[in-house]
Amino acid sequence: MEDERNKNVYHDHNDCSDGLRIKAGHKQQVTANRRHCDECVKKA
Ligand SMILES: [Zn+2]
Repeated sequence: MEDERNKNVYHDHNDCSDGLRIKAGHKQQVTANRRHCDECVKKA
C-alpha cells in the first residue's frame, strides 16, 4: 500500500530521499496525474 502511494507522487527536489530511491529504480517523467511528494513539499 505504501509503495502504491509513493508511485503516485512526483519529486522535484534532488535531495529528496524518496525521490532518489524511486529514480534509481525507474524514472518517472509523467507528473500530470501525480501529486507532489510530501517530502518535496516540505523542502519547497
Ligand atoms: Zn520527493
